[in-house]
Amino acid sequence: MASSIESAGKHLVLVGGGHAHVLVLEAFARNPEPGLTMTLVSKESLTPYSGMLPGHLAGVYTRDEIHIDLERLARAAGARLILDEAIGFDRAARRVRLKGGEGLAYDILSVDIGITPDLSGIAGAEEHALAVKPIGSLLKQWDGLVEKALTPNGPRRFAIVGGGAAGICLAFAIQAFFAARLSGPIEVSLIAASEAPEINAGMRKRIARALKHRRIAVHAEDAAVRIDQDGVILASGSSVPADAVLVSTHAAPPPVLAATDWAKDEGGFLAIAPTLQILNDAAVFAAGDCATMIAHPRPKAGVFAVRQGPVLAQNLRRAVRGEALERYTPQRDHLLVIATGDGRAIGGRGRFLAFEGRLAWRLKDFIDRRFMRRFA
Ligand SMILES: Cc1cc2nc3c(=O)[nH]c(=O)nc-3n(C[C@H](O)[C@H](O)[C@H](O)COP(=O)(O)OP(=O)(O)OC[C@H]3O[C@@H](n4cnc5c(N)ncnc54)[C@H](O)[C@@H]3O)c2cc1C
Repeated sequence: MASSIESAGKHLVLVGGGHAHVLVLEAFARNPEPGLTMTLVSKESLTPYSGMLPGHLAGVYTRDEIHIDLERLARAAGARLILDEAIGFDRAARRVRLKGGEGLAYDILSVDIGITPDLSGIAGAEEHALAVKPIGSLLKQWDGLVEKALTPNGPRRFAIVGGGAAGICLAFAIQAFFAARLSGPIEVSLIAASEAPEINAGMRKRIARALKHRRIAVHAEDAAVRIDQDGVILASGSSVPADAVLVSTHAAPPPVLAATDWAKDEGGFLAIAPTLQILNDAAVFAAGDCATMIAHPRPKAGVFAVRQGPVLAQNLRRAVRGEALERYTPQRDHLLVIATGDGRAIGGRGRFLAFEGRLAWRLKDFIDRRFMRRFA
């Protein structure tokens, strides 16, 4: 009883509709906090679930199936949704500046705004390539690419820059999608500057075999340095001819964070404590790809954002009530399943476990659909 009195009249502001925040909203929808005012600021009213994005591009899932409706979720949580972009944070005044001109005062703030791809090392990428993040703009560009590809003289050669799990998933998805819809040969190339550390040796072997089987050309240990209308130029000097290029490389922090004096890691991502509070600001929490837990750094992956969700919900609730916060240690490794777009998948965990087949795909499909059902 005392707790809800403490939180009465407080304003909790969530910026970004990322994976952790949808779970915060779900938790507050299930268990409302009396007297608390909550606001979600999001650029879009539908937020994509990245785990199902390759399946969508492969033609397996519809667009509806891979999106969470933030409007409905916010309503269920008793939160006001502002469809706008946070363009600045005034730490001293505890205010968020919005692109639309509105300023938003908060008592407690939480930031889950994802990443932008780092295109800085690849000349011409901004003009000639499709960046996979933000997913919303990728999907708009993807529609245009599909439309063009379905014309007789449309694109037939596709290159994916980035050899991490996301880049590999995309290569399989794009090959599956276009091979099933276009008559005549298509070419799909995957450009990987380095081996992805999250993929163990057993999975790597299986992935290499599957890529070869699907005739996806791999340019390994060679970085893309330039993209133009003819394709991709690599650091070695060789070139990969392509009519369409997708870039899924390293993550960069969202530019809006640069101007803040919040603690950051060496990459510019928000530095957070095990309580998910920013190290130098107890009133502000951060989660997902835009943050790094300094005591327990982990790869930038949706699975970690999802795991942070319930802890974040709990700690935001405790923070508004003025209670002690929970400390969180993320798991060391996680199940990684790469869909190959043909009803199969390659999975693994830790250093040694690796498996593949139809069952692996059914497992991934089950996990992803179960996650999405929470918001239906
Ligand atoms: C093709 C692909 C496949 C992937 N597959 C997997 C997978 O199978 N498993 C896995 O674990 N990870 C996967 N990932 C990684 C995963 O996408 C990210 O780790 C995950 O999306 C991070 O979630 P997040 O909560 O940090 O933010 P995001 O999901 O990126 O969400 C951030 C949200 O904040 C909003 N936003 C951004 N800036 C602002 C602002 N200034 N104001 C208001 N709103 C803002 C955005 O519009 C967006 O809705 C994949 C990535 C890609 C590209």
